[in-house]
Amino acid sequence: MPIYEYLCNDCEKPFEELVMSAATAVACPLCEGTDIERLMSVVNARSGGRSGELPATACGRPSAPPGCDGHGGCGCH
Ligand SMILES: [Zn+2]
Repeated sequence: MPIYEYLCNDCEKPFEELVMSAATAVACPLCEGTDIERLMSVVNARSGGRSGELPATACGRPSAPPGCDGHGGCGCH
């Protein structure tokens, strides 16, 4: 199952979601907003990295655990 990275347009926070398909309805885990846009899948390494961006996974690990928001929320830091 692919993990997709999304950006919430309401609170402007990125988050990751494990989804069955691209058609799966996803809501922001923070504000429950549905005005979100899908970024590239984190399965693929983020290319053309801009400085200051998060690494390929939120944790900087090859595979971040589901739910990791890159800010210590998953306890993997
Ligand atoms: Zn939000």
